[in-house]
Amino acid sequence: MDRQQEFVLRTLEERDIRFVRLWFTDVSGYLKAVAVAPAEIEAAFAEGIGFDGSAIEGFARVYESDMLAKPDPGTFQVMPASRGQASDTARMFCDITLPDGSPAWADPRHVLRRALAKAADMGFTFYTHPEIEFFLLKDLPSDGSPPEPADTGGYFDLSTHNVAHDFRREAVFALEAMGISVEFSHHEVAPGQQEIDLRYADALSMADNIMTLRHVVREVALAQGVHATFMPKPFTELAGSAMHTHLSLFEGDRNAFHDPADPMRLSTTGKQFIAGLLTHAREVTAVTNQTVNSYRRLLAGTEAPTAATWGRANRSALVRLPSYKPNKGNSARVEVRSPDSACNPYLTFAVLLSAGLRGIEKGYELPPEAEDDVWSLTDTERRAAGYQDLPVSLGEALTAMQGSELVAETLGEHVFDFFLRNKWEEFNSYRQNVTPFELKRYLPGL
Ligand code: GLN
Ligand code: MG
Ligand code: MG
Ligand code: MG
Repeated sequence: MDRQQEFVLRTLEERDIRFVRLWFTDVSGYLKAVAVAPAEIEAAFAEGIGFDGSAIEGFARVYESDMLAKPDPGTFQVMPASRGQASDTARMFCDITLPDGSPAWADPRHVLRRALAKAADMGFTFYTHPEIEFFLLKDLPSDGSPPEPADTGGYFDLSTHNVAHDFRREAVFALEAMGISVEFSHHEVAPGQQEIDLRYADALSMADNIMTLRHVVREVALAQGVHATFMPKPFTELAGSAMHTHLSLFEGDRNAFHDPADPMRLSTTGKQFIAGLLTHAREVTAVTNQTVNSYRRLLAGTEAPTAATWGRANRSALVRLPSYKPNKGNSARVEVRSPDSACNPYLTFAVLLSAGLRGIEKGYELPPEAEDDVWSLTDTERRAAGYQDLPVSLGEALTAMQGSELVAETLGEHVFDFFLRNKWEEFNSYRQNVTPFELKRYLPGL
């Protein structure tokens, strides 16, 4: 047994923990959990906990379904106390293996680990920092009727009589109690819309942290009598929920994107990384924006990107280069603005990293910075400027992904095939629906 495992066993005893939840994520990005008694944990470290993989979305076919969940002791956390009661529950994320101990190809954590190993071969570690937007709603109607925002606030609003203020306080306490550092939190532009930004961390820990945040935020919302949703675009008239993500590569303890001698202080590695993100942007969009609803957000005018461009102050760009203080070279990073809050963070980080690394490997040239507000250009003007539009629907995104050797290699054959099959099915069942929009527009006149 290693030191981390010993620490877990000791803590279980000292803190009188009764339930240990073993967490993992399915291919679609849903959190799964099995609760085990603390007495089972030693065996779980050694052998894993068996489960039927075919019952989990995207994990296995029926005839190869036996799988093991192996808890990662580095992710051990006691769940936050609630209503002054010390917690009797802890959780760990798991890696999924086959009975022979080899990694399950369909485990999103494994997909990300493989992409990180490739970065490590090139001498890099990969850090991310997400800005997670979501809505607080009065209820979650499931009959298709529109939801109601839980508050009437706007950007950076602070009102003491507001559910959002208390909510953010409680959510930040709960996250910090689970070892997740929150850098900022504020009310976003739309009524009911919130944003929580996490302090940067290595990409695997961050993907775990994002899954934890979604769970904690939902729980804290419920305790305050409201409901949280990470749906990308719940309201026709309001902005959607993005998960802008800041990315950086480090070589040892040196930020590989920082170059004090460059006018933008951006290294060649950084330029090639951005060029990789832009070149492969259309191929990875189905992963970063994986629902039919995601494409209602990627429209002009709500601060969401519509074309594969980059810029510095330009908030219509897909990739933005945030400014940083000259003496803070380690803050050099690029911000990708397409992902939404419903993405699978493991797969999203894996494809973004691979796209950027491809740019470095092949020495892609960085195209000129987009100075234009892309949203105000006509189609012809955008094409003349050489901007590639992002896919406008899940169907178009899947078509782009289908032809991508980069995404196939990054996700691995099993996840790639499952993802495409599953998402085409989702897109096609959506396509069958006659919407209120069509009835209003066409029925009376046609
Ligand atoms: N909500 C906006 C989007 O969907 C982002 C707003 C912002 O943080 N600038 O992209
Ligand atoms: Mg922000
Ligand atoms: Mg924001
Ligand atoms: Mg941002």
